[in-house]
Amino acid sequence: MRLGKSLKKSLKKGLQIASTCTVLLVLMLLTPVLQAAEKISSVRVWNAPDHTRIVFDLSGPVTHHLFTLDAPDRVVIDIPNAQKTRALDLVDFKGGPLVNVRSAAQSNGDLRVVLDLDRKLNPKSFLLKPSEQYGHRLVIDLEQSGKAAPVAVVKPASVSQPKSYSSMGSGRDIVVAIDAGHGGEDPGAIGANGTREKDVVLQISRRIYNVLKAEKGVKPVLIRTGDYFIPLATRRDNARRKYNADLFVSVHADAFHNHRARGASVFALSRSGATSTLARVLAEQENQSDAIGGVQIDNSDEMVTSVIYDLAMEGSMEHSIKVGSMVLREMGGVTHLHKKHLEQAGFAVLKSPDIPSILVETGFISNPTEERNLSSKNHQVKLSRAISRGIITYFDQHPPPGTYFAARKLQQDSQQHRIARGETLSEIAHRYRVDLVSLMQYNQLNNTDVIREGQVLRIPNS
Ligand SMILES: [Zn+2]
Repeated sequence: MRLGKSLKKSLKKGLQIASTCTVLLVLMLLTPVLQAAEKISSVRVWNAPDHTRIVFDLSGPVTHHLFTLDAPDRVVIDIPNAQKTRALDLVDFKGGPLVNVRSAAQSNGDLRVVLDLDRKLNPKSFLLKPSEQYGHRLVIDLEQSGKAAPVAVVKPASVSQPKSYSSMGSGRDIVVAIDAGHGGEDPGAIGANGTREKDVVLQISRRIYNVLKAEKGVKPVLIRTGDYFIPLATRRDNARRKYNADLFVSVHADAFHNHRARGASVFALSRSGATSTLARVLAEQENQSDAIGGVQIDNSDEMVTSVIYDLAMEGSMEHSIKVGSMVLREMGGVTHLHKKHLEQAGFAVLKSPDIPSILVETGFISNPTEERNLSSKNHQVKLSRAISRGIITYFDQHPPPGTYFAARKLQQDSQQHRIARGETLSEIAHRYRVDLVSLMQYNQLNNTDVIREGQVLRIPNS
């Protein structure tokens, strides 16, 4: 069959168009392949008591698709346009619910990561933008089933919750929440010799816990018990809701650009600026913790503004300053102090409306001498005893009502008087400068009661 000239011409033109289209099509198909695939440079696993966090360090932002499979329980993460790297074969996942981490390139160009689990867990995933030492991160949180959703709104004074009672029946224990700063993804400050703040503050916190545990009438609790991250708001909320704490103590050891800066400091919250430049800088550094540690929704600075909230806050801040000053004074006996008085700044972790809250900087990890001291057992013991002494001194003087400490104070404060021959109640009241009615009430006496020589009266505080 022969084709006419004109037909040949138009066919040729058609083919030209077709080939141009083909080239375009091929280019379009090639485009995603030509783009450099994102790489996973490292993977970290952090096991916490109630969840496990897996963090993928990425060379750039990615999208991802996550789903679960059961029998056996697995979490599958598909990441388009990502490359399998050696980091995925070297994941250290021991000591938690992870049985294995597997990965393989899919034929469609996706990277599939499979987390084999020993139990059913609820996965949650989110991406984090670059922050401080980290680039883009993909975070997978595997939460234990049935875990209550975190409550976002902070309510003032919750008095209805039962407190823990000491076995003596002479008043409940005082609950002291000890919060070791940072943890997990957030190492905190790092010293020149590689000492990490998150490690030394956990050691010191455990020592404080042990000192306070030996104290009758005190129940210490550790907010962080291992190497994992807790958002700042959750630290406060756990102290208030989970443990119903009477005091919140956050333990830190921070860094300053001037390596000569040294000495311990104690801070309370300030709602109107910081008391010094250093206090402001440290508060800013500490408040970075959520961005570094990884918080999906930024609730780190949610302050509920209400009159009740403000009143509760004022009351607890006054006591924060009192307890903080006592802790600082005791610390002055065992370590150099950065300043002789308590300082204040806008630390997010201290924003509890109704619990006295302090932040203790045990020293500067950026100072070589203090870095060495903070790692030494001897120095840690001294620090933790001093901090505990300050806390006990405060509660001796200001025991919360209904506590063993309150009962003991009442006992200690009341003087006793043995009635001599011919003495009258009004004479005794006058001598101790207390009013007669108080004296009678204190000793459960009625108008009709007769007092006798040799009888012992308790004298109330005037
Ligand atoms: Zn810190």
